Amino acid sequence: MMQSLVFATNNPHKAREIEHMLGGAYQIKTLQDIGCQEEIEETEGTLEGNALLKARFVREKFGFDCFSEDTGLEVDALGGAPGVHTARFAGAAKDPDANIRLLLERLKDQTNRQARFRTVIAILTNGKEVLLEGVCTGRIAFEKQGTGGFGYDPVFIPDGYDQTFAALGEAVKNQVSHRAKATEKLRQYLIDVKE
Ligand code: IMP
Repeated sequence: MMQSLVFATNNPHKAREIEHMLGGAYQIKTLQDIGCQEEIEETEGTLEGNALLKARFVREKFGFDCFSEDTGLEVDALGGAPGVHTARFAGAAKDPDANIRLLLERLKDQTNRQARFRTVIAILTNGKEVLLEGVCTGRIAFEKQGTGGFGYDPVFIPDGYDQTFAALGEAVKNQVSHRAKATEKLRQYLIDVKE
């Protein structure tokens, strides 16, 4: 029987990407699948803190071993912003179009477009908490490009490419992304704890 693993998220894009990256070895269950209707407030000041907060919430309330992740976009010319505030950059509505518009506006006359996505995964198994990180460096495009992916994908060009994640498509994104790198560490960790 395929092992299932709870992923403390309600973002179907993230769940799909990670399920795919784990090579179909695990059936991923989201918050919706375990009957958790609550939106877990991300009140910590770091990606690490928020990743732990979400995983601990599920562990304590539902009793499952689980993992969670938190991702931020860190833009050099903005001193590392929006960082932990990436989802709410343009306001509480977490609207991706508004976020992208604000980002392009802030970088309007800026030639330094360097940025990175950083993903932190918190995995809670067998009473142990472990943090894993994945970073993807790149640059912010001058305008939106492509229709794939989600969030800031239409304006993020990973290093080594000339197109955005949204234009490159899921197969390329899943090979080089921040989430891919963090998930590869998760895959290895899950193998190690089994042995
Ligand atoms: P959170 O990790 O769900 O809090 O997401 C933080 C913000 O980063 C949200 O605005 C997401 O849309 C965005 N985001 C997270 N992962 C990605 C990604 O892989 N590509 C583009 N945007 C992302």
